Order: sequence, then C-alpha cells, then structure tokens
Amino acid sequence: MKKPPLIWLNVFVFASTFLVAITAVPWYGYTYGFETFEVVAMIVGIFVCGLSITGGYHRLWSHRTYKAHWSVRLIFALGGAFALQNSAIHWSSDHRRHHKHVDHDEKDPYSASHGFWYSHIGWMLREYDAMLYSDYTNVRDLQKDAIAVWQHKYYNVLALVMNVGVPILVGLLYGDVWASILLLGVARLVLSHHFTFFINSWAHIWGSQPYTDRNTARDNALLAIFTHGEGYHNYHHIFETDYRNGIKWYQYDPTKWLINILAWCNLASDLRTVPEARIEQAKLKMELKRRHDKVRHLPNADEVMVRLNQEYDVLCERLNAFYKAKIVLFESKKKSLNEKFDKIQFEQQIRDTKLQLIQLKNAFYEQREVWNNMQFSFSH
Ligand SMILES: [Zn+2]
Ligand SMILES: [Zn+2]
Repeated sequence: MKKPPLIWLNVFVFASTFLVAITAVPWYGYTYGFETFEVVAMIVGIFVCGLSITGGYHRLWSHRTYKAHWSVRLIFALGGAFALQNSAIHWSSDHRRHHKHVDHDEKDPYSASHGFWYSHIGWMLREYDAMLYSDYTNVRDLQKDAIAVWQHKYYNVLALVMNVGVPILVGLLYGDVWASILLLGVARLVLSHHFTFFINSWAHIWGSQPYTDRNTARDNALLAIFTHGEGYHNYHHIFETDYRNGIKWYQYDPTKWLINILAWCNLASDLRTVPEARIEQAKLKMELKRRHDKVRHLPNADEVMVRLNQEYDVLCERLNAFYKAKIVLFESKKKSLNEKFDKIQFEQQIRDTKLQLIQLKNAFYEQREVWNNMQFSFSH
C-alpha cells in the first residue's frame, strides 16, 4: 500500500533539532564550554515542558482528572507551546482517541500495534489522519475553556515566542546567547520531545501489566523517571480518570505531587481518584487470570481451578468487607466532627467500627497470605 505523503514541517523540525542536538551542542560545549546556569536552565526547561504536558495537556485537559485555577492553566498553555506538541485541544483530541481505540490499527492515532518507531514518532511524520486533523468533536468540553481556546488560536505565535524568544531572552539577560539557544532552545526541546514520545512507544512495549492485559499499556518504573510519572501506564489505561499514575507513595510521580501542591495552595480542586477496593480487585483479577493460564496444562487442571476460584472468591469477599468498613469509619469520623451533640455516643460507635475494621483487616490479610502461597505453588 502507498504511504501517505510526508508532513515536511514536522520532518524538518524533528530532524534538524535532533541533528543540532547531537552535533552542534557537544561541539559548542567542547569548544567554548557551558556555564552551570545554562545547564540548570535546560533542566528547568525540561521540567516546565514535561509537567505542562503531563499535568496540563494529559491529566487536566485530556482526562479532566481535576480542576485548575486559570493562572495554572495559563502556565500549562505556555509550557505546552514551549514543548512544541501542538495545542492542548489538538493533543487532547488525539489522546482521547488513543484511549478509546487503544491498539486499534487505524483508529488509535499512535497505535503500538505498528511498532516502536510508528508509535514513538512515525505517526507524526506522515498524513496518516488527514481526515481527522481538525475534527475536534471529541473535545467539545475544552471549547468552553477560554485559555485552551486562546492557546489553540494563537498556537503558532506562542510556539515561536516560547521556543525562539525565550532562549534568546535568557541568553541576552545572562550572558551567552548561542549557549542558551543550543541548550535551552534545542537540547531541551529534543529531550522533552522524546521523553514524552516514550509514553506512546516504550510504555506500550516494555514493562509489567499488573492491572490489565486487555491492551498493550505497561507499568515501567524506569520510564516514570523520564516521563514525570507517566511510566505507570498500565494503571493509567485502566483507570484514566485518576489524577495519579503512580498510586503508591514510593512511586515516582512528580505530576501527582505537583497537582497535590497546587491543591494545597487552593489552585487545584476536585482531584479524582479510583477507590482502593476497585484497584485491588483489578489486580486480583489479573492474578487469577495468570494462575489459570499457568495451571491449564496440569492433569488435574479442573480441580486446581476450582480451588483457585474458591480462594479467590473468599479473598474478594474479605477485601470488599474490609474496604467497606474503612469507608464507614471515615464517614463516622467526618460526622463526629460536624456533630455537636451525642459526642459520647459517636465516640463509642467509632471505637466499635475501629475494632471491627481490625478484625476485617486481619481476615483479609490472612486470606491474602493463603492466596499468595497458592499463587507461588502454581507459579511453575
Ligand atoms: Zn491518558
Ligand atoms: Zn497509552
């Protein structure tokens, strides 16, 4: 089949910035040297671009996982133009199609089914989706966001000002214009481009699938470092309405931390999360599925599967009871804070619920142990 025509502007931008980054940047550094300030400016630039895409384009505009003050949206709009990844409206339209039709050969704009190169950058080099290029019917809600609309309208000017104007201005103010153009202008752009592109390529190829294997999305802790927390892509594809991607405290997700800080400063609100019980359940379902696949070849497969299913059902039951009690305790605590009377009665109720919660937690953990042992014995 004949390939669609090349988009020369994109080819030129990606190729020229990449070539300058691997030739002129090291040559200049070797010949004239870079100041610490210039390197720091580049790193700050990478974070501004990256977080504007992950916190703004992705979690705010594409998935509406929280609400943000206009000043935050304005910074994200400018940072997004700096990242040179098209307008937030266009980006979100592509991204919503990616989620809706993930892995579909034609309907997913950067489908991993076409391999690493295509999902990383190839999809932007040719007119693959010319028909859909200005079809924004799936982002009608964003047309109500004045800042997103403004950024879309003046995207070309903003992109030029941010990518050419800012590096020159910083260079003029702090010394070496050429060093600033090369590091803050070009190297920053190339690195932030590819770090984001990794989410479409790498995060759909390498990593684990703890929550679902219905699509190619993977969790990858190493990738999270480059992508400002978006490496937990398996979780993200099953629970896209959650403002977090790394849900555990130890998982590197600076985008989530940024949103939390904004919320503490009253600049973000309505942070959406998925209930813990649902997350755990998805994980257990995957574990059961994997065990079924493992034992299928055994001579007594049917019998083993029945046993697995029985233990799994008990585990799910205890899990639900535990999380339900947790919610009851949380609600009673909230109520007791508001209630002025019957304080003593409430406190007694809370004590009882706490006791019950401990029992349910122990029962759940016990069954988790049984389940883990069972998984281990059927892991070969
Ligand atoms: Zn997404
Ligand atoms: Zn994806």
